[in-house]
Amino acid sequence: MAGLTERCMYCEDSHGTDIEHFWPKTPFSECLFIWPNMLLCCAECGRLKGQLVPADASGAPLLIDPTAEDPWAHLDFDPDTGNVVARFLREENGYSPKGEKTVEVLHLDRREALARVYRRSFLRIAKIVAVAVDDPQPDSQALLEQLRECDDSGLLSWCLRADGQHLEPFCRLRTDHPEVWRHCCECLS
Ligand SMILES: [Zn+2]
Repeated sequence: MAGLTERCMYCEDSHGTDIEHFWPKTPFSECLFIWPNMLLCCAECGRLKGQLVPADASGAPLLIDPTAEDPWAHLDFDPDTGNVVARFLREENGYSPKGEKTVEVLHLDRREALARVYRRSFLRIAKIVAVAVDDPQPDSQALLEQLRECDDSGLLSWCLRADGQHLEPFCRLRTDHPEVWRHCCECLS
């Protein structure tokens, strides 16, 4: 799940060094050896999350579970700052409570080093897509491989399928080369 580069499964940036239990060992000892409960994470995210599993009034966890959920359903990326923030859900006219809690617990909107890496990764992805958009017949498979190779921070899915698709150059890929865009999106799922 953490990929070949063994990235942290929460911030997808730092090298994963610790095994984190999404449901903490205490009081959830029955979940201790359940594989999807063991997440590879970096020391910083492990320290910040610790024993926390914030829950809503019904007891459902308010932290995004990276083994079961698409983080971009709850989170958004700010290309100007490189910060990861809670996603605004138009249909509910409010920010995703899970996104807000995850950002708060993991400090995703105020980790400068993380923001720098995310922004660099975003600019690399945007540059590759901008070149492909200007190509009259871009090779979708070659483009996807190129994009995957530089997607160190797991932003590709945000750029193509989440709110990034409305920004340049991603919106142009969608309108000018819809079949290439569709191929890339399908392969990401
Ligand atoms: Zn991390």
